[in-house]
Amino acid sequence: MVTHQIEARGVADERVLAAMRKVPRHEFVPPSRRESAYEDRPLPIGSSQTISQPYVVAVMTELAKVDAKSRVLEVGTGSGYQAAVLAELVAEVYTIEIIESLATGAARTLEHLGYGSVRVRHGDGYRGWPEAAPFDAILVTAAAPIVPPALLEQLVVGGRLVIPVGDGIQQLEVHTRTSTGSRVERVFPVRFVPMTGEVRQSPR
Ligand code: SAM
Repeated sequence: MVTHQIEARGVADERVLAAMRKVPRHEFVPPSRRESAYEDRPLPIGSSQTISQPYVVAVMTELAKVDAKSRVLEVGTGSGYQAAVLAELVAEVYTIEIIESLATGAARTLEHLGYGSVRVRHGDGYRGWPEAAPFDAILVTAAAPIVPPALLEQLVVGGRLVIPVGDGIQQLEVHTRTSTGSRVERVFPVRFVPMTGEVRQSPR
């Protein structure tokens, strides 16, 4: 999976590639999907949600530009797979999931695989995790119609928010916090499940 679907498509960060090689994706999918676990596509994980395509997980992780001292927030825990990849790379991982059964299941899987240091919270990630902020990077793994302001505010200066933005076809965006605001880079079109909760009540 890593050599043919991730490295061959341009992901070059050796630490990210090593993390992708190490985390057992089959442990994060339902038993009926295990034989497909290393195909480069999203897979259903229940509750109408998906574990993301491995290539996109690797790209988002690379775009976050994290190191061994980083503190990272993920919004959209899902199966826990992206959180486990991050846990291989950084000092602290916080992750929030709006569907309680997924949050509980992901916490159990992470604990079972030795990623018990990942903090998993059930709730709406729209307002981030203020008590643990600021973060060096924030990854949002559901598509938001707008960039949630609290997530930008919870970054350190120089920190990066990696987020799919839009409805239908979305753009993967990287927002880097600066001393005066933020700057944005659009990476490529993606297709994620929608971010739900308070973000849907925000004025566009
Ligand atoms: N990162 C996940 C993984 O590695 O398996 C895949 C995430 S899945 C594509 C998107 C997840 O975001 C879903 O589990 C969904 O319930 C969750 N989600 C959607 N809106 C959310 C919100 N406002 N706060 C937290 N989680 C949210």
